Amino acid sequence: MTDTRTETTDITRRQFLGSAALFGGTAAGLVSGRASDLPAECAPNAYQLADSTNMLHTVCLQCNTGCGIRVKLQDGVAVKIEGSPYSPWTLVPPIDYRTPLADAALVEGALCPKGQAGVQTAYDPYRIVKVLKRAGPRGANEWTAIPFEQAVREIVDGGTLFRNVKGKETRRVTGLRELWALKDAKLAAEMSTAVEEIRTQKSAREKQEAVEAFKARFKDHLHLLIDPEHPDLGPKNNQVSFVWDRLKGGRAEFIKRFISESFGSINAHGHTTVCQGSLYFTGEAMSDQFVEGRLTGGKKFYWQADTANVEFLLAIGSSYIEGGYGPTHHARKLMGNLVEDKVKIAVVDPRFSKIAAKAWMWVPAKPGTEAALALGMIRWIIDEQRYDRKFLSAANKAGAKAVGEQSWTNAAWLVKEDGSFLRASEAGVGQKETRTTADGKK
Ligand code: SF4
Repeated sequence: MTDTRTETTDITRRQFLGSAALFGGTAAGLVSGRASDLPAECAPNAYQLADSTNMLHTVCLQCNTGCGIRVKLQDGVAVKIEGSPYSPWTLVPPIDYRTPLADAALVEGALCPKGQAGVQTAYDPYRIVKVLKRAGPRGANEWTAIPFEQAVREIVDGGTLFRNVKGKETRRVTGLRELWALKDAKLAAEMSTAVEEIRTQKSAREKQEAVEAFKARFKDHLHLLIDPEHPDLGPKNNQVSFVWDRLKGGRAEFIKRFISESFGSINAHGHTTVCQGSLYFTGEAMSDQFVEGRLTGGKKFYWQADTANVEFLLAIGSSYIEGGYGPTHHARKLMGNLVEDKVKIAVVDPRFSKIAAKAWMWVPAKPGTEAALALGMIRWIIDEQRYDRKFLSAANKAGAKAVGEQSWTNAAWLVKEDGSFLRASEAGVGQKETRTTADGKK
């Protein structure tokens, strides 16, 4: 982002509020002025931490919410982290992305305590900032610090890297240079296709014959494979594996580019947690469309509850104040509406969480009984007819349009014991439907 330091002729409401937050009551005189009209001792640049050249705009990685942050530097040292005013996660609404940095410097976004504690994480005296090489047997917790250049050299070239470790003096480690065996992308694609042909064979004898045919066809390149008798293991390149936990914001893409697209290993594997998976897959199911007789095409995305406009929030096992992607933007929206009595919150959680403390009702259900609770709620809603009949009647986009709804739901669809939806013909209330798919199949 370029700091153009544009002179603005009119101070915006946000700039005024930002200035007010920074300078307290003395900012009242700014109403009709410009940032550059400030008295010299109050001018933004006079205070190091209000000078945009001492600010880094980046992303918080203290949790997976990934809030936009601004790190304030004093003499090159990070001393304060606050929410970026450009980020919808930390300021609602955010300032215009085109706002010059010098003007934005006077506006602060919100940040959760964990995000603010990023300074401690960055300067944690126990943080490992050097490459540590094992100096003893595995598990002995014996290490030696080595220069970064040495680490790169040893990882790339390999060799007898543990000559100082008893019993490992002659152990030879294979380096990346040697493992980068198959470099011809065309050959790699041909081998991959041939391996698929082996996989499609049914019997063990047919598979063995396919392996022999593979070996004969690629006889000049078998030394590039991990095991020529098992071509499905792929080239030696696959012996390099990068397994990561949560890498967002483009970092996973860089790793895939290096490990897979450049180095040629198939083993670039991301990993995530059950909670994130449930968010993804729920979002995917929510956005599925009914196409050619089945629900499909949903997007795994960070679908979020509309906490700014919700009137009744039922939080089951999640706490929008302590977490839930994340406290920065959900908590502030909910808190404002709670104070104004615009939202009612019910919390199902065995813990008396922070959001439970603010809730209209706390249901400390025992872990594992949530499904029974949900079924009980459904029973009550049906018995008391407390459902929205018009909305439930909209089973698809066309149905929603017909009844004037913005969206639709499959909540009223009946599900068979095998998990598939009951069709009208099976219930005896309609003809069996035959559709022609896009490729002409019935
Ligand atoms: S919710 Fe807090 S810890 Fe998580 S990314 Fe945002 S500021 Fe950082």
